[in-house]
Amino acid sequence: MAIINCARCGKVFSPEKLTNICPDCLALEAKDLKTVTDYLRSFPLANVMEVSNRTGVDPMQILRFVKSGSLRMTDPPEQLKCRLCGKELKKGTLCQDCMDKVSELKEREKKRDKNIHRNRR
Ligand SMILES: [Zn+2]
Ligand SMILES: [Zn+2]
Repeated sequence: MAIINCARCGKVFSPEKLTNICPDCLALEAKDLKTVTDYLRSFPLANVMEVSNRTGVDPMQILRFVKSGSLRMTDPPEQLKCRLCGKELKKGTLCQDCMDKVSELKEREKKRDKNIHRNRR
C-alpha cells in the first residue's frame, strides 16, 4: 500500500485514489469551498484576495477551487482586475506577479504529482 505525505498538513496517509490530500484535509477543503461559495453568493464580484480576507481561506486554495472547476467566479463586468491582488489589468485575469506565483505553484504541484506516481508503483 502506497503512503504519501498530505500536501496540506504533511500527515502520512494511504491515498485510496489519486490524491495528495488526506481525508481530514479533504473534509476541511469541502468546508472551505462551502464558505467561499456562500461568500460569493452574497458578493458575486469579489476578487480572490477579498474572498480570502473575508473568509480566511488561503487565496491559492481558492484559485485551486476555481481551476478544478469546483468554484465559479463571475468576471467583473467593467475594468479588468487581477483575480489575486486586485491590481488593474489591461487584459487577462492575473497580473504578471501573480501569474509568476501561480506558475511556480503549478511547478511545485507537478513535482508533487510525480512523487505520488513514483510512490504508488
Ligand atoms: Zn492533511
Ligand atoms: Zn496580481
